[in-house]
Amino acid sequence: MVMSSLPKAAMSRGSGFKVLSNVDYRLARNLVVSEYRKGHLSRLDVCDAQPELLRAASDAGEPVDEECPICEESTIKLVSYVFGPRLPASGRCVANKKELAKLSSLGKDLACYVIEVCPACNWNHLAQVFSLTPRPSGRPRSKASVGQEAAAGEAGPTETPGGDRP
Ligand SMILES: [Zn+2]
Repeated sequence: MVMSSLPKAAMSRGSGFKVLSNVDYRLARNLVVSEYRKGHLSRLDVCDAQPELLRAASDAGEPVDEECPICEESTIKLVSYVFGPRLPASGRCVANKKELAKLSSLGKDLACYVIEVCPACNWNHLAQVFSLTPRPSGRPRSKASVGQEAAAGEAGPTETPGGDRP
């Protein structure tokens, strides 16, 4: 039984990074679910997962032992997106903590968004947001190899003082 959701895995010891902050969106999620059950929201309102998200759920989603609150026909999957420097603006979908550790090893703070998705009815909701910062490893690594290009062009407009005096 896979019950280790990514945030939990990330928070475990020896994962190579530490969790800075962790916001649980369960309250907001439960509100949406109860609004749906009361009939204030339609299934169209709440089951609007984008095709990309659904694909991510089927490819890299982490199954959890929890029934979809909307259709109650399938278990939900957790899809994690990581945002940070040098990552795509739309985030990078990560499948496991190994991948997360790899991204974290870039030495930058990362934000991880965990979305729960139901592959059966397209229900989706933000479940959790947490930020990660790399743990300081033994030796400091300075990887400032990105120097400014000091290649000053030679093709500048040079003024030649044509002082040809007789
Ligand atoms: Zn569902």
